[in-house]
Amino acid sequence: MTQAAPVSISASAAGGAPRKHVTVVGAGLVGLASALWLQEFGHEVVVVDPSPPLGEEPWRHAASYGNACTFAPHGVVPVSIPGLAWQVPGMLLDVTGPLAINWRYLPRLAPWLRAFLRAGREAEVNRIAGTLAALLNHADAGWQPLFELASAKHLLRRKGCLYLYKTEAEYAAGEYGNRLRERHGVRLTRLDAAEVRDLEPNVAPLYHAGVLYDDAYTIHSPRQMGEAFARAFQAKGGKFVKGCATGLGSTRTRLEFSVDGVRHSTEHIVVAAGAFSGSLASQLGDRVLLDTERGYHVMFPHAAELVQRPVCFVRHGFYMTPMADGLRAAGTVEFGGLSAAPNKVRSDVIRSEVGRLLPAAGTAGKTWMGFRPSMPDSLPVIGDSPATSNVTYAFGHGHLGLTLAGVTGRLVAELVSGRPPHVDITQLRIDRFHRWGGRRKIA
Ligand SMILES: Cc1cc2nc3c(=O)[nH]c(=O)nc-3n(C[C@H](O)[C@H](O)[C@H](O)COP(=O)(O)OP(=O)(O)OC[C@H]3O[C@@H](n4cnc5c(N)ncnc54)[C@H](O)[C@@H]3O)c2cc1C
Repeated sequence: MTQAAPVSISASAAGGAPRKHVTVVGAGLVGLASALWLQEFGHEVVVVDPSPPLGEEPWRHAASYGNACTFAPHGVVPVSIPGLAWQVPGMLLDVTGPLAINWRYLPRLAPWLRAFLRAGREAEVNRIAGTLAALLNHADAGWQPLFELASAKHLLRRKGCLYLYKTEAEYAAGEYGNRLRERHGVRLTRLDAAEVRDLEPNVAPLYHAGVLYDDAYTIHSPRQMGEAFARAFQAKGGKFVKGCATGLGSTRTRLEFSVDGVRHSTEHIVVAAGAFSGSLASQLGDRVLLDTERGYHVMFPHAAELVQRPVCFVRHGFYMTPMADGLRAAGTVEFGGLSAAPNKVRSDVIRSEVGRLLPAAGTAGKTWMGFRPSMPDSLPVIGDSPATSNVTYAFGHGHLGLTLAGVTGRLVAELVSGRPPHVDITQLRIDRFHRWGGRRKIA
């Protein structure tokens, strides 16, 4: 994929747009990238979050903390694709598979699931892939100026990302996505088993073949990255308010919200609260078909040297990513909403599968569960509120939030500054599912 050339911040920042007081709700990667781009466009920015990236328990709840750390320009293939509906029962029966569901949650999930299955029709998949490709083309250019600003370039590792297929049939099924990727210019290299072994000799030879996505890169430590961005934000006068934003609403001239019972006012609100954005949007008069794909990670503190790059056995749906504090096995999807406790079976499965796929991985350490903010069509919501003036939405990035946060932040800054967005965002409206009757929020 040809990435758009990085734009230097000074060249892209708004000239002459009025300086606004902007409050960003949510300090995950999308909120932080939005805050930094807003500052570059000349705005005064406050970020509200109960666990900001600096502090004792940074990012406890945020998907941005626990993800697989991979910048994935190969992410043009939406989650729902033709034929997936027929594979779901098999995936649910296989406890080592990538998908699980909390059946008690199914009635609440039904409208989302219907829209998800509709999004998997061939014509829809092609439309969605085109929209994702346009965003992904600008993804690196949205990040690099921020990494420079935060002096965080040393956290990047550029060795691609490897997908492994256990059988010939799995590999053949994966070709649907790989051809779609190639049509959108994604660079990839198909590898036979011997070539995979040369690249990753410590991975057990339980694979038939692999595909290397050449332009993927990893963030060595999402925590250090968050801290570097937070420091850069504060150095430019940005302020964190620790707490949950509630009671969002508007008066005739300002927007208002509360944090711990204290009322605040601001000129513009950016809602970037990940999977928790639905209830905030409904306070502002908008409804959205947002749900969560819960994901898990298990750390292997002594295994970081065993692989050179993120390695994903497609059948199991998690990446094994080398990081500063060990190897992180992260991924899988569980439908179960925002309030159910973590399901220990999911992290146990990841732990035992890593033991088989990477026999030298050793003892597992900490486990984590977090909430991917997911729309049924795998596209984020980026755009202004139809219901309330001076509100901009930036959430719903599903499996691609780390990858797309930079370009999203720049789009947010353009919208707040009244400038035309540099990527077409007409498909990313918050109300795009209303025609399907998908008017529902999650609390
Ligand atoms: C296991 C796993 C692996 C993944 N791997 C990758 C990957 O390799 N590459 C990739 O691109 N993406 C990956 N993702 C997806 C990515 O992590 C998410 O899409 C991304 O982190 C979403 O960022 P966000 O800022 O929108 O949300 P979050 O990171 O969830 O942040 C939302 C923030 O909002 C705050 N908040 C919530 N409610 C309120 C409120 N009322 N007031 C104030 N603050 C509030 C929360 O505390 C939180 O800090 C993965 C996700 C998971 C779960």
